[in-house]
Amino acid sequence: MKLLAPAKVNIALSVEGKREDSYHELCTLMHTVDDLCDVVYMESADTLSVGFDISGMPSENTVTRAAKAYMRESGSYAADIRVLKRIPAEAGLGGGSADAAAVLRALNRNYGNPLSTPALCELGAQLGSDVPFCVLCGTAMVEGRGERLRKLPDIPDCFFVVCKPDFSVSTPELYQKLDMDAIAHRPDNQAMESALLAADLQKIADNIWNVFDPVVTKDHLELNYIKSIFHSYGAIAYQMTGSGSAVYCIVTEFEHAAVICNMLKENYPQVFIAKPV
Ligand code: C5P
Repeated sequence: MKLLAPAKVNIALSVEGKREDSYHELCTLMHTVDDLCDVVYMESADTLSVGFDISGMPSENTVTRAAKAYMRESGSYAADIRVLKRIPAEAGLGGGSADAAAVLRALNRNYGNPLSTPALCELGAQLGSDVPFCVLCGTAMVEGRGERLRKLPDIPDCFFVVCKPDFSVSTPELYQKLDMDAIAHRPDNQAMESALLAADLQKIADNIWNVFDPVVTKDHLELNYIKSIFHSYGAIAYQMTGSGSAVYCIVTEFEHAAVICNMLKENYPQVFIAKPV
């Protein structure tokens, strides 16, 4: 069995407050991008074995944790799992969560779909905050720690250019550093939802906002350079995704995306053109 594990981007991201369990209350609009994917291959086997096409993966990773969680829930998980990593790590693109979600979906399919999608999302929530969304895919407003999902219409036809700079950001450290009182602006999620329902790409672009963007940009001014390329080449919107460090822009034409991509490729090897699902 072969499954694609698509990356996610945050179109809007607001941190609403700190919770008692030390996580944060989120309200974020997420979107999967089909062309920037890890690939999960799975075969039936007597034991669990997991392999990656890159070195340095820890023996306990989101793939092994997902397989073991599925076993606890359903009583079976033996499989041979191979993962091709294409989504840059520590980028805010949800690579590890996408792999975990794909493994849950693949195992469930392999055993005749005993678990419903909501049950798989619940299981995913035990593995990471972004996993429930990655089980669902598409476009959704995501709230709570990441477990409350509301499906929304997909973003109208467009292209994303995603650029991962050389540095990485630690998500726990970033959350810890976030000063809730210093958040000057939060996304207007209602306006974003109306824009999606109206399929109005310009209004979606007008409402793009990620509260982490100014925090990370302050320490990594290089992000301003990438954004200046997006800006000077006429992208209709641009910002960092999730906790970074990848930034993306939105354009409507493939040729336009290709020009921006080629400009950035001179300095950044990890630039991708991706279409939202
Ligand atoms: O759930 P996940 O393991 O992906 O989260 C990584 C880190 O991000 C957590 O350890 C926590 O510090 C932070 N986080 C948070 N609130 C969320 C999601 C993540 O504080 N809703």
